Amino acid sequence: MPRPRWDERLAAAEAERRRGDAQRRRRVVERAQGPRVVVDGRPLLQFCGNDYLGLAASAEAVRALCEAATRHGLGSGGSALVSGHHALHAAFEREAAEWLGYERALFFPSGYQANLAVLQGLLQAGDLCVQDKWNHACLIDGARLAGAVLRRYPHADVEGARRQLQSLPAAAALLATDGVFSMDGDLAPLPRLAALAAEAQALLLVDEAHGIGVLGPEGRGAAAAAGLAAGEVPLLVVPLGKAFGAQGALVLGSAALVEHLVQSARPYLFSTAALPALAAALTANLRALRAATEDRARLLERVAQFREGARRLGLPLHDSPGPIQPLKLGDNARALALAAALERRGYWVAAIRPPSVPEGTARLRITLSALHSAADVDGLLDALAASLPEVDGAAA
Ligand SMILES: *Cc1c(COP(=O)(O)O)cnc(C)c1O
Repeated sequence: MPRPRWDERLAAAEAERRRGDAQRRRRVVERAQGPRVVVDGRPLLQFCGNDYLGLAASAEAVRALCEAATRHGLGSGGSALVSGHHALHAAFEREAAEWLGYERALFFPSGYQANLAVLQGLLQAGDLCVQDKWNHACLIDGARLAGAVLRRYPHADVEGARRQLQSLPAAAALLATDGVFSMDGDLAPLPRLAALAAEAQALLLVDEAHGIGVLGPEGRGAAAAAGLAAGEVPLLVVPLGKAFGAQGALVLGSAALVEHLVQSARPYLFSTAALPALAAALTANLRALRAATEDRARLLERVAQFREGARRLGLPLHDSPGPIQPLKLGDNARALALAAALERRGYWVAAIRPPSVPEGTARLRITLSALHSAADVDGLLDALAASLPEVDGAAA
């Protein structure tokens, strides 16, 4: 038997993507001032980013970044355990741990890497990792990297989670969930999952990518908003590419858990530490995010305005209390056509298709930011009202 040919495999995959309207295209952002962007030469108003509080444009964070880079240079120069762990990283970790009420925090260059590290560092082959079906891809991939037994439960189904935990009663177990689901914007049933994890002696991990900065007192996230204390969520993962307005992630936990990750998590050990200047910028944004009470209130006003308008238009709304407002359209072609019709009117909204979401649930993932004005949201609603008949007319 000859080996399969790579060129044939690539061509077949490409043809398959075309058939299913599944090709993706990277858009080139030439300029961005908050949600006002120039994309491929055209000015558009963006409703598909995750910069919920506008901190990606924070002048103070940019100043902190520049000052730190001027003083300390650009790269960290090494992995954290060899030579890359900088005083600016350490200071950011300490301040974040204190803010969120954990003994220790560990800083990573990305959320994807943080989740791989936590799951690979803690789980051994044969351990049980129980996860919500809609969890972010990196939580799924982390369980695979660990060689753990991955058992998924139907979305937000606490009894389903219980059954999966009971399926291997003698195995060490970790229960992982997004706090706010990234493609749907709804909340995990965190108090019931925390009670279940305690009862089943499973370690609970909550990923706060879309809760941090938006929900809870001082924006401490979905777990804090649900009234859960640090002891009830022993592992908190906080990606910093969304409301924090930059990139990176924190893993928060007990001193023993975090030290174990430092010693043994391969994605941490074998990767260069983030830019020290990034930690300086993130420290500035941590302080800004805590104090952003008015921005959080304005963001939730825009969310309410959007949901009210969408209801009047008869659009199907999901049970999502925050800035992620999915508009489920079903098939890929319809989602793409609506995104294109909105873009012709000057609005940039991403069509999200499988495998990012389950088959048959292609959608527009509309996201709101505190930087959107009330007029911006009205404009988007008008554009949706004008675009939908076009799309459905063309499909009929
Ligand atoms: C974005 C996201 C991540 C990944 O974080 P990055 O910093 O972008 O790598 C992890 N979990 C969830 C739920 C996310 O939405």
